Amino acid sequence: MTPIRPLFYNIHENYRWAEVLAYLLGGLAVILFLIGVYKHFKRWRSGRSEPFPVFTAERLKSFIKYAFFQGRLATDGYAIVMHLCIFFGMCVLFAGTALATIDQDVAHLIFKNQFLKGSFYLGYKLFLDIFGIALIAGLLLAFYRRYIIKPERLKNLVFPTFPLDSFYLLAMLLFIALSGFFVEALRLAETKVPWAHYSPIGSSLAVLFNTMDKQSLLSLHFVVWSLHGLAALTFIALIPHSKAFHMFTSAASIYLRNMGPAGALPAGEPSGVSKITDFTWRQLLQFDSCTWCGRCQELCPAHISGSKLSPKNVILKLNDAMLKYSPANGTPSAAGQTGENPDAVNKEKTLQDTVFEPSELWGCTTCRACEEVCPVFIEHPRTIIELRRYLVGQGVMDKTLQDALNNLNRYGNSFGKSDRMRAKWTQGLPFKVKDARKEPVDCVWFVGDYASFDPRLQTITQATAKVLQEAGVDFGILYEGERNSGNDVRRIGEEGLFEVLRDKNLDAFSKVQWKNGKKVIITTDPHSYNTLKNEYNWDGANVEIRHYTEFLNQLVKDGKIQFKKQLSGKVTYHDPCYLGRYNGVYEEPRFLIRSLGLDLIEMPRNRSKSHCCGAGGGRMWMEDTAEIKERPAENRVKEAASLNGVQMIVVACPKDLAMFRDAVKTTGNEGKLVVKDIAELIAEAMEIQ
Ligand code: SF4
Ligand code: SF4
Repeated sequence: MTPIRPLFYNIHENYRWAEVLAYLLGGLAVILFLIGVYKHFKRWRSGRSEPFPVFTAERLKSFIKYAFFQGRLATDGYAIVMHLCIFFGMCVLFAGTALATIDQDVAHLIFKNQFLKGSFYLGYKLFLDIFGIALIAGLLLAFYRRYIIKPERLKNLVFPTFPLDSFYLLAMLLFIALSGFFVEALRLAETKVPWAHYSPIGSSLAVLFNTMDKQSLLSLHFVVWSLHGLAALTFIALIPHSKAFHMFTSAASIYLRNMGPAGALPAGEPSGVSKITDFTWRQLLQFDSCTWCGRCQELCPAHISGSKLSPKNVILKLNDAMLKYSPANGTPSAAGQTGENPDAVNKEKTLQDTVFEPSELWGCTTCRACEEVCPVFIEHPRTIIELRRYLVGQGVMDKTLQDALNNLNRYGNSFGKSDRMRAKWTQGLPFKVKDARKEPVDCVWFVGDYASFDPRLQTITQATAKVLQEAGVDFGILYEGERNSGNDVRRIGEEGLFEVLRDKNLDAFSKVQWKNGKKVIITTDPHSYNTLKNEYNWDGANVEIRHYTEFLNQLVKDGKIQFKKQLSGKVTYHDPCYLGRYNGVYEEPRFLIRSLGLDLIEMPRNRSKSHCCGAGGGRMWMEDTAEIKERPAENRVKEAASLNGVQMIVVACPKDLAMFRDAVKTTGNEGKLVVKDIAELIAEAMEIQ
C-alpha cells in the first residue's frame, strides 16, 4: 500500500456540500485579503515620492539576515526563539497548505496524478508536524511573555483603528495550529494507516480517540475540520485588516531599508510634514510595518527620563493617523466620524494639531537608539525631525531654543559671541595656532562651538592643541571663518539655517591652503564630525573627515604619540551617539584608553546601546519640561557610579563633558566620580603642561 495524501478525506465522501462551500469561502477570503492589500498600497501611494532603493547583493543579504533570521533580535534569546518558531512555523505550514492545494487542484484534477505520495509524502508529513509544533511553542512563548511577564514595552495605546490586538491574533493562530493537529489525529484514528508515525504529533493525539466508533470519528472530524478551515480562512481575510499584516510590511520595510550612511538625513521638505501625505511612500510603509514590540521605547532616553515622547507611540499614532486620515480611505474624517468632508478637514487639521503635543516632538535627542534597535528598520529620528520642521516654521518652540537659533543666525554660534572670540582660547597656548586660510597646513581642526566658547572646556581644547603640536601634526584652524557645523540645527528642524551654516563653513574650507592633495579635517565634536562627514557636499574633493579619537589612535599606532607615563585606575567610557551609533566609531576611543594603561570597565549600556547624555537634537538649548523625572545625563552618571571601583567617566565629546560634569554634581557623585576627556588624559600621559 503506497502512502498517498487523501483528498478531502471524509468531506468528499460524506459532506460534498462542505467541499463546495470550502472553495467558495476560500475565494471570498482571498478577495477580502486582496482588497485589504490594495487599500494599503493606495495609502502608501498617497505619500510623496522617494526613489525606490536599488537592488544590490548587499541589500539581499541584509534582507535574508534581518527578515528571515530576525538578525536584530540576536541578543534577545527569548525573542529570537519565539519569533523564529512562529515565523518558520507559519512559513512551512503555509507552504505545506499551498503544496496540498496544488496536489489536489492541479496535479489530481487536471493531470489525474498526485505528487504527495510515497516517501516524499511521508517526509512532507514529518516536516509539517515538526514545524506545526514549533509554531505552537512560539505562540505559547508569545502568550507567556505578553500576558504573564507583561513587560512595560509591550503595553500599547488603544486605537479604534486597530480593533484586533495581538491577543486575538495569537489566539486565532494557536487555534488553527492545534485544530490542524486534531484534524490529523482524528483521520489517523479512523484510517489507522501503517505510516501514521510519520506524523508524530497527530499519531500521538490519535490515541485519545481510540475508543470512538467510526461514525463518531467521522462526525467529530467534520466538526473540527470545519472549525479549523473557518478559522484559517477568517485569519487570511483578516491579515491586511489587522496588525497581522506586519508579517508582510515588516519584510518589505526591511528590504527597503536605508542602506546609506545613518548620519545623512534625507533632505525632505524644508517646510516639514504636517499631513500624513507629506511623508514619503516608504515612510508610510514603515509606519504600517511596526510590530508594536516597544524595543525603541525601552531604550529611548527621553521616554526613560519621563518625557511624553515614546518612539513607539509616535509610529503607532502615525499609523493610526494614516488609517484614519489618508485620502486613499475615501470616507473617514480627521475626527474619525463620517459626515464631514474629509478633504476640508485634512486641509485644516495638521498632525501637530490632532495627533502630537509639541513637547512630545521636542523631547527627542535624535540619539538614534530607537532606529538602531528597531527590528524592522523604522527611521524614527527622521520622522520626528520632519514633524519638527513644521513646528519651527510655525515658531512653536521654547524661548531658549528660539534664542539659540537667533544667535546661530546672527553670530554663527549658539553662545551669541562675536566671530572674533571664536579662537580666543588659543591665546593661552605657548605657540601660535596656524590660520589654515592663510598658511599651508596638512590638516584642519574644526573645533566646534562648545570647545571654542564654553569656559568650562577651554583647558581641554588647549590640551588637545598641545597634543597635536607635540605629535608634530601640521594643523590649523579656521579662526573667525568657522561657524556652528549645523548638525544640531538640522536635527531641530531648521533646514534653512543649516544650509546657511554649511555653506559658510564650506566657503571657509575653500580658502584653506592645503599642503597635500589629501585634505584631512579633524574635529573634537562628534556632532560636527557627523554632518561634515555625511552631509557636507565636498564636491569630489579628496577630503578625509576624522574624529580626534580616530586621528590620535593612528598617531599612537604610528609611534608619533609617545606616552611618558602610564595612567592607572578603573574607568568607564561613554559612547557619544553621533560617534558610535551614527558613524560606527566604537573601538578607537577604547584602544586609546587601554593604551594609556587605564582599566576600562564597560557600562551595561555600551556601544550601540549607549545611553544618550541628553544634549543632542538641540536638547541642550531647551528647558526641561515638568514631567522630566531624571535627566538622561543623570541616569547615565548613576549607571557609571554603579560600576565597582570605577572613579572616572571618560568622554570623547565636549557636550558630554559639560552634561556629565553637571550630572555628577546633581546626582551627589562629586568626589566619587570625575569626568575627563580622552585628550586631557593623553596630555597627562605625555606629561604636557
Ligand atoms: S532618537 Fe533617541 S530620543 Fe529620539 S525617539 Fe529615538 S530613542 Fe528617543
Ligand atoms: S518602531 Fe520598531 S522597535 Fe518600535 S515598536 Fe515598532 S517595530 Fe518595535
